[in-house]
Amino acid sequence: MKTRTRFAPSPTGYMHIGNLRTALYEYLIAKASGGDFILRIEDTDQKRYVEGAVDIIYNTLKTVGIRWDEGPDVGGDFGPYVQSERKDLYAPYAHKLVELGGAHYCFCGEREEQVDEEGNEIICKFEDPCKKIPLEEAKKRIAAGEPYVIRQTINKTGKSKYEDKVYGLIEIDYDELDEGVLLKSDGFPTYNFANVIDDHLMGITHVVRGNEYLPSTPKYNLMYDTFGWQRPVYVHLPPVMKDAQHKLSKRNGDASFQDLVAKGYLPEAIINYIALLGWNPGTEEEIFSIAELAKIFSVERLNKSPAIFDIVKLTWMNGMYIRALPAERFHQLAQPYYKDVPAFVDQEALSRTLQPRIETLTQISEQIDFIVALPAFQAELYANKKMKTDAAVARANLPAIREVLAGQIEWNNDALFAALKALAEKLGVKNGQILYPARIALSGKETTPGGATEIAVILGREETLRRLDAAIAALN
Ligand code: GLU
Repeated sequence: MKTRTRFAPSPTGYMHIGNLRTALYEYLIAKASGGDFILRIEDTDQKRYVEGAVDIIYNTLKTVGIRWDEGPDVGGDFGPYVQSERKDLYAPYAHKLVELGGAHYCFCGEREEQVDEEGNEIICKFEDPCKKIPLEEAKKRIAAGEPYVIRQTINKTGKSKYEDKVYGLIEIDYDELDEGVLLKSDGFPTYNFANVIDDHLMGITHVVRGNEYLPSTPKYNLMYDTFGWQRPVYVHLPPVMKDAQHKLSKRNGDASFQDLVAKGYLPEAIINYIALLGWNPGTEEEIFSIAELAKIFSVERLNKSPAIFDIVKLTWMNGMYIRALPAERFHQLAQPYYKDVPAFVDQEALSRTLQPRIETLTQISEQIDFIVALPAFQAELYANKKMKTDAAVARANLPAIREVLAGQIEWNNDALFAALKALAEKLGVKNGQILYPARIALSGKETTPGGATEIAVILGREETLRRLDAAIAALN
């Protein structure tokens, strides 16, 4: 049977890192066996509905290279793929489940759903007195116009068992399970009902979701069994943690995918890093494109211990990806950070210098501040023991440096470097006694991306000579 997985996000307005990982694993599980990946939007919780949120889901998945075979925009044979458009389809199944003995009519209203601070449903052991009302009597009350909901009926004796691909055998006493609402009085299904109906009707073979659903899965299994439908394979994922105690959570201000992109992380690095949060390839290798992952991913290598989101590791990985970009692509990605760069700057030279030296795109801003505006003169900066320089050395050498550079015809790093080395030789001083003062004069900073000659190329001849003149004047 062809594998069919689905990503069923609620449109909340951002892509939580844990959700993106779920989507990725669903996609990879399908693709690793030539299966289909389906996108279903679960928008029935109107309280949580956020304008534009569906576009964020589309854009995030597209940006990281997750393509869906069926979904609201691309269609498919099992639509509609937006839950609110499926509204009319649930009630007949709910009534059928009543007939089959897996649910009953309830006249006590809805009871507030109990949720914890993360918004997850709290499982309680509620046993509904209405399940004792004989079906014929219940039907009469409904015919007479009495409002009702449909609740799941659970025989509270014995143990429920199922096999999870990550957590193994799960056993839960039926007594623990809540006789929760499946169909509300307004005809809308609850998540607990809709997920079963939708997954069945869409032919989903593998249900992949967060481990917070482990304890409610026995309720879903009861429904699959009562309808006589095949249960899906379950793959529950451990949470992505911020530290040993806390889940990573957008509600607590932790980064979403969008935040990370805004902080200068590349989508391909983020997705590579996320893939390793709970899965390992079984080798030392860590750098994978999504296409490579789709070839080697296996459910067996998923880990049930929670993974800690390590921004230092992600930053390292992002640096690897930045260095591997084609030069033109890096130059393109750097453009938003070059907004304030003056016209005299050779932007391509700037990109060439930056690309090997940064780990996130936002680091560009701090690296180029001295290009945008030369910091105020500080004589102490010229002092450097290792380079054997100080303000006096700078005062002595800068005029000769200026003269050599002013006479330079070829303005590229190799030529400038050779010229300044030749100058050091001619003056009988160390290279550092030429290059270091030049770098300070051109940048006004102790640490810069690249050395004096790289900076000179970036600044161009005129600005280079202007900055040298200013330093010579300030030192005298
Ligand atoms: N809409 C649910 C969520 O965002 C989907 C859970 C599931 O995959 O069934 O948590």
